[in-house]
Amino acid sequence: MDIIKDYIPRGRKNRPGSFMVPKYVTIHDAANTKAGADAEAHAQYLKGDVAANKPASWHFTVDGGSRAKDSTIKPPQIYQHLPLNETSWHAGDWNGDGNMASIGVEICENMDGDRAKAEANAARLAAWLLQELELDINRVVQHYKWTGKDCPRVLRNRPGGWGEFIEAVQKYKNGGECMFKDLNEAWYPSIIKQAAELGLVAGYPDGTIRPKEPVTTERLIYILMRYRNRDIHHDTIADLVNGWKRSVILIRNDKLDGGSSLGSGSFISEDGLILTNRHMTENHKKLTVTWFGGVQYNAKFVGDSSDADLALIKVDGIKTKPVRIASSVPRHGDFCVVLGAPLALKDSATFGIVSYPDRDSGHYVQVDAAINQGNSGGACFDLQGNMIGVPTLKFVGPTVDNVAYLTSVIEIRKFLNAR
Ligand SMILES: [Zn+2]
Repeated sequence: MDIIKDYIPRGRKNRPGSFMVPKYVTIHDAANTKAGADAEAHAQYLKGDVAANKPASWHFTVDGGSRAKDSTIKPPQIYQHLPLNETSWHAGDWNGDGNMASIGVEICENMDGDRAKAEANAARLAAWLLQELELDINRVVQHYKWTGKDCPRVLRNRPGGWGEFIEAVQKYKNGGECMFKDLNEAWYPSIIKQAAELGLVAGYPDGTIRPKEPVTTERLIYILMRYRNRDIHHDTIADLVNGWKRSVILIRNDKLDGGSSLGSGSFISEDGLILTNRHMTENHKKLTVTWFGGVQYNAKFVGDSSDADLALIKVDGIKTKPVRIASSVPRHGDFCVVLGAPLALKDSATFGIVSYPDRDSGHYVQVDAAINQGNSGGACFDLQGNMIGVPTLKFVGPTVDNVAYLTSVIEIRKFLNAR
């Protein structure tokens, strides 16, 4: 699935040619259910006489295939009608951000096409645009946002339709597995994925990176300029914190003896299983979890470890993004980021280095990141976003600074594998 560039000729009313820095990706439904109203037909319309003098244009049309006149099946296609840095007339808001600062994407509704494929390809295109333009997921918007028009009408009127579409975009954007499906050789996948996470490369909209293709001088300059224009460490940590903060939660334990304690935990499955410290669940009567955004759930106790300070609790009926548990202990001196709820201040992040990777025969990882009461049971990540341990204890005293222990991934894996 390549993008077919078939630009509207210059000098017509429907190619205003004004320079734009895109800040949004606006999704439309084409509202034409006729057979044959596919991406190619829309490209022909935009280049034809009828559209020439109308303020009518957009950047991409995506279809799910169609049937040619001789009834052979045409594969799904994406047509691009305008460059990414030119405005077009698609949002109906005249000089607003819809027309002046957003990329217009039309999804075909032709009855001889596969609508599900058209939506999937539009989601993939939107994910690629977000990478290419360095935009967040919340910049994928409905035409409705600009004028209140009921568009994209199919996605809007199907219950859950828009949410599913955004979920698909998110999946393609940082799904790893879905992006760069041609990364299957031994040594380079992780380094290319890192480059993508840093925003240095975006791959192609069909989900490939084409690692063996030569790079043009133009492309090389583009990558070098992207590299030069960013503060790598800042972006890495901010991306990491924002990428994982929804996976770490605040836990309140109302105990059998009437007391209570507060700590942290992290989701380790998509259906709400939470890893925390055993000392966070001791004597529990009622366990309450506060998720990102403040929404609260009751959790049930699942089990704990007999030899490590680890336990599992679970919230039923929610869909969550599990942390990625590192496959090995971190390197001595690696950077690390702690997420959790010190002093019940939820969604807090602190930063440090791995002071020593295997204290107490590999039970613990020593870090100098600030850890306080309430961080217990949360998560500590390396800069690749792998969870390297559970903040479990710290040394306290008038002359002690920044000596804290994580329960290591060796202990975590042992505990989880034994279940
Ligand atoms: Zn629209």
